[in-house]
Amino acid sequence: MTQARPRHDGDVAADPLEGAAVHSHCPYCSMQCGINLVPGQTGPRLEPWPEFPTSRGGLCQKGWTAADLLDHPERLTSPLVRDRRSDPFRPASWDDALERVAAGIRSCQERFGLSSIGVFGGGGLTNEKAYLLGKFARVALRTSQIDYNGRFCMSSAATACQQAFCMDRGLPFPVQDLADADAILLVGSNVAETMPPVMQYFDEQRSRGGRLIVVDPRATPTARGASLHLQATPGTDMALANGLLHVAVKEGLVDLDFIRARTTGFEAVRRTVASYWPDRVERITGVPVDQLVAAARLLGDAGSAIVLTARGAEQHSSGTDTVLAFINLALALGQAGRMHSGYGCLTGQGNGQGGREHGQKADQLPGYRKIVDPAARAHVAGVWGVDPDELPGPGRSAYELLDTLGTDGGVRALFVMGSNIVVSAPRAGHVEERIDALDFLVVADLFLSETAARADVVLPSAQWAEEEGTMTNFEGRVVLRRRALPPPEGVKDDLQILTAVARRVGRGRHFEHDDAQTVFDELRRASAGGVADYNGITYEKITAEDGVFWPCPAPDHPGTPRLFLDAFATDDGRARFSPVEYRAVAEETSDEYPVFLTTGRVMGHYQSGTQTRRVRALRLAQPDVFVEIHPQLADVFGIGEGDMVKLTSARGTAVARARLTRAIRHDTLFMPFHWGGDGRANLLTNPALDPASRMPEIKVCAVRVEPTGTS
Ligand code: SF4
Repeated sequence: MTQARPRHDGDVAADPLEGAAVHSHCPYCSMQCGINLVPGQTGPRLEPWPEFPTSRGGLCQKGWTAADLLDHPERLTSPLVRDRRSDPFRPASWDDALERVAAGIRSCQERFGLSSIGVFGGGGLTNEKAYLLGKFARVALRTSQIDYNGRFCMSSAATACQQAFCMDRGLPFPVQDLADADAILLVGSNVAETMPPVMQYFDEQRSRGGRLIVVDPRATPTARGASLHLQATPGTDMALANGLLHVAVKEGLVDLDFIRARTTGFEAVRRTVASYWPDRVERITGVPVDQLVAAARLLGDAGSAIVLTARGAEQHSSGTDTVLAFINLALALGQAGRMHSGYGCLTGQGNGQGGREHGQKADQLPGYRKIVDPAARAHVAGVWGVDPDELPGPGRSAYELLDTLGTDGGVRALFVMGSNIVVSAPRAGHVEERIDALDFLVVADLFLSETAARADVVLPSAQWAEEEGTMTNFEGRVVLRRRALPPPEGVKDDLQILTAVARRVGRGRHFEHDDAQTVFDELRRASAGGVADYNGITYEKITAEDGVFWPCPAPDHPGTPRLFLDAFATDDGRARFSPVEYRAVAEETSDEYPVFLTTGRVMGHYQSGTQTRRVRALRLAQPDVFVEIHPQLADVFGIGEGDMVKLTSARGTAVARARLTRAIRHDTLFMPFHWGGDGRANLLTNPALDPASRMPEIKVCAVRVEPTGTS
């Protein structure tokens, strides 16, 4: 069992409910599995928290080893500064570092204007940090230029849900409902590897006779365990969804009573899907007609069915419309707004949900309010004690912001918190060049990430067990991470950092927060009356109830585990169909780039790998980057198992070791994106944006592959 670093004060904070154990949550993905930190002789010991209802005692290898990060020898324990980027870093006092940050910001503000300062956040930040980061940008820096890496992750599903339901919450029901669905359609997610504890619900569903259909270009462990695997070509899921609905209409499987009573706009969708004949869909997707028909019947005959999408469906230049196509399918089958049914998005990052609700998105204010809405601006400005006219308008989306770095009229100084852009952004080589063109870069992080290594000032941050804060998991359940030990000497938490910088730039009177709970109480007021209303959620209530589902508008409100049972959140209470026509990926294969590349995660690592690449057990489990290639394709290119290969797209070149497998389509390669250097999958990926969500097409691009001739 993993032992954490001894506390400085030799005393582990006690949980008022459990006596010795401190309840917390895994620092990685959106399942936010429950963890108990139990006092041990040399520091807190990590154990599963069996009673936490989402994970019910489950943890994957990442969760089990999370405490290894607490006393990691590479932790940053002092601010780092340098006068020129070519200089090595040197340790500095907080006073010196913060003064440099303030001076760098002031200098760019004076020369280039307020919106020359950019802020880039992350979907792993607590609600309190995400909220305060948004306020920091708009009130302390008075810039419109803030966005976050969640834009790369789940924004297409968020946009589609807003369009269909006027509310975006990952799952509209507790995760346990999966076990009671007769059929589940899972599109673009390998949960068996990326989120193993959730498999207990899929297993339970199967043991009750339920059926699972998986759509994925790879025969992943999740797909291999399914009743039906539709191995679609990357980027064709929208055609598949329209094809499924075509079959459902043709075979009389749609629920006309539900459509009449609870939706609007079906007729236009019916007309659109009429041309998605199964053989046409087979030509587009590669999914055989008989499998398409079988899937439609399986869903249409189910008493209850759930449709789930994840990054495989969403990270496309047509991601919003693709999700809308699957929402259309769920609505037409009458599988929404009632028990054990509905459309849901499996959010990815630890606070992928909460991180997009409280203001670190370019176009949003807390409570999922729109920054262009005068009433929303007035409400939030009132909570913040500023004039609504002082609040900037919407800024650029994440990739568009990064694309302007160091340019005339663009962002000249960037403040990064909780994101390793150099590894995680699409077209990473270009982003790296733009970062190097900045006048000033400051990064707050636990470790010297690839992005922090390019900064002028690096600020060492506290991490999950060293600070308090709430996260909103993929169910919309707001959970509380308790503090189990103090951060190492010399480290501040992100809330302290934001407050300290705000003071240095002369806006301290708006940032008089004592601790995370004070920030959360302000967040509650700022979110009150918004779509994501947290007003009735308190730390005490979360503790007493093992999490509270938003919306929860008042202290005596029980929270809302299941959405839409009586009405959808639209003005008329009806869900909206949206007709969507399939359009091809932004970059088709060609003679020069003849195969598709798709990217994703592996079991042992998480996101840009800043944390998991530093955990010995995870590094041993998956030490280096690889690329999956079908043996027949490998044969064509003269590639053998274990060969080093070079992948080239229109944007750059990356190197990885070949892994031959029949689990991947003949025309597609798969490469995980957790590594830096020349093993970065994002050196290849395409930043073509979805027109509605501004999400880049990270999931598919065209490449060529060749052996390097080295081993
Ligand atoms: Fe649970 Fe996700 Fe952490 Fe694994 S990474 S333990 S699935 S929260």
